[in-house]
Amino acid sequence: MLLLIPGPVQTRAETRAAMAQDIAPWDLGFRAVYAGIRDDVRRIAGGVEGVHATLPLQGCGHFIMEAAIRTFVPVTGKLLIAHNGSYADRAVRLATEAGRQVVTLPGPDTRPVTAEEIGAALAADPGITHVAIVHHETGSGIVNDPEVIGPVVRAAGRRLILDSVSAFGALPVNLAAHPEVDVVLFTSGKCLEGLPGIGFAVARIDSVLAAAGNAGSWSFDLSDVYQHALRAGWGSFRFTPPVQALAAFRVALDAFAQEGGQPARLARYRENCRVLYDGVKALGLTPYLEPRHQGPVIVTVHQPADPAFVLQGFVDALKARGVLISNFHNTKAPSFRVGCVGAITPEDMRGAVAAIGGALDDLGVRRREAA
Ligand SMILES: *Cc1c(COP(=O)(O)O)cnc(C)c1O
Repeated sequence: MLLLIPGPVQTRAETRAAMAQDIAPWDLGFRAVYAGIRDDVRRIAGGVEGVHATLPLQGCGHFIMEAAIRTFVPVTGKLLIAHNGSYADRAVRLATEAGRQVVTLPGPDTRPVTAEEIGAALAADPGITHVAIVHHETGSGIVNDPEVIGPVVRAAGRRLILDSVSAFGALPVNLAAHPEVDVVLFTSGKCLEGLPGIGFAVARIDSVLAAAGNAGSWSFDLSDVYQHALRAGWGSFRFTPPVQALAAFRVALDAFAQEGGQPARLARYRENCRVLYDGVKALGLTPYLEPRHQGPVIVTVHQPADPAFVLQGFVDALKARGVLISNFHNTKAPSFRVGCVGAITPEDMRGAVAAIGGALDDLGVRRREAA
């Protein structure tokens, strides 16, 4: 089965195989592996030793997002969220339920937020202390670029929280050049092509130190993760980690380096995406995004107008042809979404396009323009 979803992604056989072992988290051999992972992901984030630290947390992306919001945004602060997609919805809910003051900057889910929009929102409300953006919006496929937004946040003297969960490893992040970024967030199971299980925060140490006492939670306090590392070492976890997922992640990071790191991964995903985008258009379907706003991680496609199209039926027909996609959509208009990320090639994508065409024929979907 070809898994074409934006996480957990299709993985290499050797990555999955690394999970088939029993490991003690405190074993010295494993501690060295974990400490090495922390160094490696800091480097991928463009972080600087002594300035930035990797602060992982067991669990999914929402957990590390909540931890970052609780840790870096004090209860007296105010968080501006660029609200142009379904993962921004989640950030709004996480921050609100954590008791933080939230201001949203609404925008369509078909284009990125602009520097001008962020600048105007910050000028209009001097009480805003932090800004959060979703780097790649996994609802639609747009990219909110920290290279564009960061300078505005920096010029306004505010702090930036970057949810790069579905971008990191593919789209570039360069923390050394962005002192306004308090923290960048990502997980083991998306563009770094590991198994799910760990969330990562790469954070500015000065911001972490200033954030002591903010979290209102022991589990979700990244400043406590940092203090624990100082006390017990960079190979130590506070609580039991998913050790097998970490062992697999080590193998995935080696494959990432071997491939040529972030630029090579982006090039492969871009080509996957191009084959898919052009392929669905050639089938008579309408991509959700204009080419200039199409990121390299997922392609969302308008559901066709033909009443013979039913999303679950389409997903089932595609699965029968060996391709698994999401059976829900997170865009404002009805769509289906196909991932371009994971251990997959442009050749796989050509096969997926053929399977999509076959599944539409199976269902008798003739009118393929947007519903
Ligand atoms: C996947 C994802 C998350 C976290 O999702 P989990 O299901 O909690 O791992 C957060 N933000 C973005 C942009 C994502 O794509």
